[in-house]
Amino acid sequence: MKLLSGKTAVITGATRGIGKGIAEKFAENGANIVFTYLSSEEKAKALEDHLKSYGVEAFAIRSDASDFEQAQELIKVALDKLNGRIDVLVNNAGITKDNLLMRMSEEDYDRVMEVNLKSIFNMTKAVQRTMLKQRQGSIVNISSVVGVKGNAGQANYAASKAGAIGFSKSIALELGSRNIRCNVIAPGFIETEMTEKLNADVVSQWRESIPLKRGGTPEDVANVTLFLASDLSTYVTGQVVNVCGGMLT
Ligand code: NAP
Repeated sequence: MKLLSGKTAVITGATRGIGKGIAEKFAENGANIVFTYLSSEEKAKALEDHLKSYGVEAFAIRSDASDFEQAQELIKVALDKLNGRIDVLVNNAGITKDNLLMRMSEEDYDRVMEVNLKSIFNMTKAVQRTMLKQRQGSIVNISSVVGVKGNAGQANYAASKAGAIGFSKSIALELGSRNIRCNVIAPGFIETEMTEKLNADVVSQWRESIPLKRGGTPEDVANVTLFLASDLSTYVTGQVVNVCGGMLT
């Protein structure tokens, strides 16, 4: 059964890692997709072709999610490409600029907040009118277990991801009466290019400390995103789902 048949989705930051996994899962389930990237043009084009091989429409658009005007323009273009409907928005684009507070620059704090948190405001503002008109929509924001728990060396990242949770719960309360849902996924340790930067010892310690004894895959996160995007979750809003192999238990 294709869970997103006839639906349209916008996904930010889908050239690799979790965003790519979500785009593939959505295409496999019949959604027409607009996805964004910032710098990886070749990867974006390759993914666009790959998604089309599932028999859906797919469009890669370069757009900086942290820029308010670019986000508004993106949604205008997306509406044009997706026949005036946006059923699902996934705010996935995110970066890390880790450091102990002592060494964290103001610039690195601000950039992480802009890409990880302001982007969610930018994109949600941009789709709100369309979803209100449709009286339907599902917004899925990708936070992190670090936003729930905190993490030494990631004060900027944790603040942005905790902010995403507060923002999402507020939107769920504000827009629930119009049948617009807003939920959060808090992935744990998912093995992607973002985590490849980490020290090998740290990675093996993490794997050992996870009850399921492995890092997660983009597909593990994509499966839960599919559930939250689809009509299987029509009575679920304002929730944070930890996809972390039991790490937060
Ligand atoms: P990733 O492999 O580094 O991929 C990040 C994606 O975001 C890329 O497609 C990148 O595009 C895009 N991007 C970056 N800045 C952007 C911007 N300003 N505007 C638009 N797109 C932008 O990351 P990931 O590991 O898949 O993580 C995806 C999300 O999950 C992030 O929000 C991250 O915080 C969250 N998360 C990840 C983990 C984990 O363990 N991996 C755990 C918890 C939460 P370009 O390639 O064009 O730069």
